[in-house]
Amino acid sequence: MSDKSHVGMGIHRCPVCLEKTDEVLLFNTKLRNTLERENFVGFKMCEEHNKKLYEEEYVALIETSSPVAPTSLTDKYRTGNYALIKENVYNDLFNVPISKNRICFVQVGILQDLQKIPVASADDPTLVGDLNDCGDEEWVEIVD
Ligand SMILES: [Zn+2]
Repeated sequence: MSDKSHVGMGIHRCPVCLEKTDEVLLFNTKLRNTLERENFVGFKMCEEHNKKLYEEEYVALIETSSPVAPTSLTDKYRTGNYALIKENVYNDLFNVPISKNRICFVQVGILQDLQKIPVASADDPTLVGDLNDCGDEEWVEIVD
């Protein structure tokens, strides 16, 4: 017997932390058993990341081990690590414009380099704080 049903939950996830942010009831109108218990239907930013990215002007750096630059938020090579950095710091570090969704995939190693910056928040090591105090010579190390 199949685990699928003609009803199931549609799950939205935060594109940054991948937590469930919304659920909707899905119903196959032809009563075909096509639905899993939980079905990913799209991305919807969680409250915390919506506030950080759109009100506090952070950019989310999402780590991926993908061999090529991901073209979709559904990148299957996500490592689960991410960091938030201020927009002005992003612009100093990267020569790629900020995307409309304020999310940027980075290769493994970039987040570790960012965490070497001494002003990273002690409360949340994944949250890099205001990096304005760093000298220019430190930027060069980070970009490498
Ligand atoms: Zn989130």
